Amino acid sequence: MTTAITKELLCIKMRNGIEIWTEKEKAQRLIDLLGTTETKFVEIGDEMINSASIDGVFTPQTMEELTRRKNGQWKDEKGIWRNRGDYACPTCKNIIPFGMKCGNCGR
Ligand SMILES: [Zn+2]
Repeated sequence: MTTAITKELLCIKMRNGIEIWTEKEKAQRLIDLLGTTETKFVEIGDEMINSASIDGVFTPQTMEELTRRKNGQWKDEKGIWRNRGDYACPTCKNIIPFGMKCGNCGR
């Protein structure tokens, strides 16, 4: 059994697409500031970030979801990720790989 404690990481996503990953504690000042209308530069690690240039602060789960959707993946009714081009059979809802016919009903 592993007992490694991993610190919670958050992604500061900039409007230009750059992602800065940092520990939650380090992002907290920025998160607090983003809740106000104030615009300021905040030091994160070795970098200075303008709070006005930020798209948002996201969890790894959200970032993974964004990446998957960017790659054309989609979630089926059960919340399982499917690849680009895969589709649900209109008749039986079976998930069919891209370019294939349904194994259940041959459509
Ligand atoms: Zn079918």
